[in-house]
Amino acid sequence: MESSQYDIVIIGGGILGLSTAMQLLERSPQWRVAVVEKEEELATHQTGHNSGVMHSGIYYRPGSRKAQFCVAGLNNMIKFCEENEIEFQQCGKVIVALHESELGRLQDLYERGTANGVRDLEIVGPERLKEIEPHTAGVRALWAPHTGIVDFTKVAAAFANKFQQAGGDIFTGAAVKKITRSTGSVALETTKGTLQAKYLINCAGLYADKVASMTGENIGVRIIPFRGEYYTLRQESHHLVSGLIYPVPDPQFPFLGVHFTRNIKGHVEAGPNAVMALRREGYRKRDFSLGDSLGNLAYPGFWKMALKYWKIGMGEVYRSYSRRVFLRDLQRLLPEIQNSDLASGGSGVRAQAVARDGSLLDDFSIIQSGDAIHVLNAPSPGATSSLAIGEHIAGLAIENFGAAV
Ligand SMILES: Cc1cc2nc3c(=O)[nH]c(=O)nc-3n(C[C@H](O)[C@H](O)[C@H](O)COP(=O)(O)OP(=O)(O)OC[C@H]3O[C@@H](n4cnc5c(N)ncnc54)[C@H](O)[C@@H]3O)c2cc1C
Repeated sequence: MESSQYDIVIIGGGILGLSTAMQLLERSPQWRVAVVEKEEELATHQTGHNSGVMHSGIYYRPGSRKAQFCVAGLNNMIKFCEENEIEFQQCGKVIVALHESELGRLQDLYERGTANGVRDLEIVGPERLKEIEPHTAGVRALWAPHTGIVDFTKVAAAFANKFQQAGGDIFTGAAVKKITRSTGSVALETTKGTLQAKYLINCAGLYADKVASMTGENIGVRIIPFRGEYYTLRQESHHLVSGLIYPVPDPQFPFLGVHFTRNIKGHVEAGPNAVMALRREGYRKRDFSLGDSLGNLAYPGFWKMALKYWKIGMGEVYRSYSRRVFLRDLQRLLPEIQNSDLASGGSGVRAQAVARDGSLLDDFSIIQSGDAIHVLNAPSPGATSSLAIGEHIAGLAIENFGAAV
């Protein structure tokens, strides 16, 4: 790798870095493009630790990037999976209102989804709900028949293959440690050597703010990691869930509430919750990083966030440590489920950008500044939207860097 010269280097071999890389070379095959990834394998963080749901675009504010990229991304993702023989299913999803008091919010979701262009949404009564999900209780539900499931790690691997076939280079086990910008060039010092590039694209997920600050950029947000923990249903209990069963979400909080997901590998998962992690890649409760924790404490937005969300946050921590409370929340959606149906599952860590005023950034945030593009906030539905986000970033690069490459 020593002193290799590229037009563009992309930092981060997750689904967004790889989608961007693939689409850059599709549109500008003459460019020399490389992806650098700190792990030995690609897609081992958010891309490899998520629920595997291809969202349809219901929740997001009309006109937002999430709404646009999710709706376009789902269509592109299905086409990509069909063309590349990646297994997926459009099993459909219900968002279940448990009380009359949730019907207003259910109706709002129906209207949002329809405004976003989500097709065939339907509010169904208890009888139709029983046909779709026989074991669920609810007074009404929003039925989204095109929501699907896929293994995003396989999708990311297909993006990587196409990128390499088009002449792109991928360096794994190469963590970017230092970035030096000078006129017309950027030097990236990695644990495997130095790369020279004219431009860089930061898709570093949980480390996007750290990488941005290596470029000297003041981006005004900090990534705070939120762990999502899952239980899995034992094989004998899989029949309780046909597809995807979600609660009506709390509008104050950007996460969707614990739900049931039948995934493409045939497992049924319950979760994820959303607990602040004490390390950026802290997949276990005991994982702790002094550097990450001190960094959070020194960030004014952290304290403002803590003040704003302390009650919800404490509830999430309590539920994380109490299987009984987790079960109680699951039983609201699926009254038959018992402790004996659950086994401990895995976890994932979301990269959530927090602004200096303590607000959790709601929309995707992608900025271009000088010779760099930074993806600063791309939590769920980032994987579903990956083709649309990659297309957008490739377009930004061609528009802003094209003439000079
Ligand atoms: C629990 C959970 C559930 C989710 N469920 C869904 C879902 O059902 N549907 C959906 O659409 N989305 C879901 N998401 C969101 C989705 O997973 C993310 O939006 C998406 O994976 C983001 O991709 P990424 O490439 O930005 O990040 P990542 O996959 O995290 O990739 C970033 C990469 O950058 C690398 N990197 C970081 N720093 C450096 C460095 N200094 N040098 C080199 N490399 C570096 C990392 O090692 C990593 O591989 C979920 C996320 C979580 C955590």
